[in-house]
Amino acid sequence: MSQEHARHPDTERDHHPDAEHAAVVIVGAGPVGVVAATLLSQRGIDSVVLEHHTAPYPLPRAVHLDDEVYCILRELGVDDRFAAISRPMPGMRLVDGGHRTMAEFRRDAVTGPMGCPQASMFDQPDLEQLLLDNLAAHSRVVLRRGATVTSIESLPGSAVVRYADTTGEHCILADAVLGCDGANSVVRDAIGASMLDLRFRERWLVIDVRTSAPLLVWGGVHQICDPHRPATFMHVTGTRYRWEFRLADGEEAADLTAPEVLAGLLEPWFGPSLPADVEIIRHATYTFRAQVADRWRSGRVFLLGDAAHQTPPFIGQGLGAGLRDAHNLAWKLAGVLHGQLGENVLETYEAERRPHATRTVRAAVAVGWALTGGQDRAALLRKNVLAVLCRVPGFSRAVLSSASPALGHSALVTGNLVTGRLAHRQPGRVFPAVLAAASPSRGFTIVSNHTPKPAEARALRTLGVGHSVGRGRGGAALIRPDGAVAAVEYGRSAVTRLLALVQSVSTSTVAGAAGSVSAGPARLTSIRETHS
Ligand SMILES: Cc1cc2nc3c(=O)[nH]c(=O)nc-3n(C[C@H](O)[C@H](O)[C@H](O)COP(=O)(O)OP(=O)(O)OC[C@H]3O[C@@H](n4cnc5c(N)ncnc54)[C@H](O)[C@@H]3O)c2cc1C
Repeated sequence: MSQEHARHPDTERDHHPDAEHAAVVIVGAGPVGVVAATLLSQRGIDSVVLEHHTAPYPLPRAVHLDDEVYCILRELGVDDRFAAISRPMPGMRLVDGGHRTMAEFRRDAVTGPMGCPQASMFDQPDLEQLLLDNLAAHSRVVLRRGATVTSIESLPGSAVVRYADTTGEHCILADAVLGCDGANSVVRDAIGASMLDLRFRERWLVIDVRTSAPLLVWGGVHQICDPHRPATFMHVTGTRYRWEFRLADGEEAADLTAPEVLAGLLEPWFGPSLPADVEIIRHATYTFRAQVADRWRSGRVFLLGDAAHQTPPFIGQGLGAGLRDAHNLAWKLAGVLHGQLGENVLETYEAERRPHATRTVRAAVAVGWALTGGQDRAALLRKNVLAVLCRVPGFSRAVLSSASPALGHSALVTGNLVTGRLAHRQPGRVFPAVLAAASPSRGFTIVSNHTPKPAEARALRTLGVGHSVGRGRGGAALIRPDGAVAAVEYGRSAVTRLLALVQSVSTSTVAGAAGSVSAGPARLTSIRETHS
């Protein structure tokens, strides 16, 4: 594949005269690799996706995603199709070993501040098929199945990827490589990264069931806080249901999946024997781990998704974290490969995403322990603490909130700390009104409460930065192409200072513009802020 973005030193080409060239090679066509390829294509970047398997992975895994991730699907243009294969999830119920309700956290509204459900249930193979169908419409992406990557060599400004398929061994010289190759990543090994263990390791049996007779259950997630057999139960979509049971030390899956034992586990839902129309789609044992890679980048080689982090699924964020990685990196990499953003922007990927993913994994571990950890005394304590917490104003709202933590500090997440009513302008958090608008070619936007002065308007145009007039007294905020707040400034020169930040990562200059940071012209629009 020949590429207009090629800027290799002659020596690299000389060393690999037979190598094919690609702007970006993506290792792995799981959901994260497919989303990364689509986002890059939307920003005009070609990629080759190399996938070991000849067909998509058919078994159910993820079942939940939140509204920030929904907005990424909207940006890909698949939100309507996602709505058709998913359902809004109304909250969570905690029950004790006798299935008596201890606490319930219920969302009343179907639609949240992003204009979509705050939590959605779906079946991962359905989502992956949808993403692959959508990818097929992107001619900038070449997907090669049956292609197993065997080695990656990181070079200054490029990387060499070697892979094997049924026709032999092949070599690609790429401007960048995205390692979206899952938990056993070869790309991770190639950049010398190791997984940091966040000290969680439990084996769980996951059972997926289909039944034509619908179960009369509430649509939220049920956490069974039974110290002897912690479990989770949820209606996925349509006729599909999932149970997850923690395995005790020394216990094997076969101990639970013998027909009479399985019927006993599912008795609270189906009665003493499983009805004939109940089909066990599959059962599988997973070892849930909490791990984050100690480095996510070497030169132009990056780790994304499960290659960079693995989490127990208690808050349903593994896939979501991977799609956030792709969304964070795609616009930066596209800007660098188009020559619009400086190479320094690429440093911000790990600086922002690693602390965010680490906090998410730690939150999942904490929630897992709070819901299911400990033995009898801990269970009693949990019950009492929960009873008190549920009476604390705001606790329920905090449990149900889908707002993710702020990104780590970087050259593009900087400046003032914002608190109180305008905390949604916190640098590193998403700015709902911009993220929800989901424009695939969006550039930087400044939201301020005044119309720009003539000099500011000229600078906005030169740097290709959009402008929106916000409401209230929140100073001025710089919103990035991925909808995250980069910085907030106050006072008369707030807009000028924010433009200086854009300038610091841009290859164009205010005096004598050579290019533009965003794909679109500066626009003046009005923006309605929601306060989360
Ligand atoms: C039981 C369970 C429940 C879960 N629930 C949730 C949930 O509710 N919400 C949520 O957000 N997440 C959940 N997850 C996590 C989610 O499924 C994963 O985080 C997600 O699938 C990771 O996507 P990925 O693209 O990074 O990796 P993968 O889906 O693993 O894809 C990696 C791809 O890379 C390919 N590959 C690997 N090595 C090579 C190579 N050398 N050459 C070429 N190709 C290669 C593989 O074949 C694979 O297709 C759950 C996971 C499990 C197991």
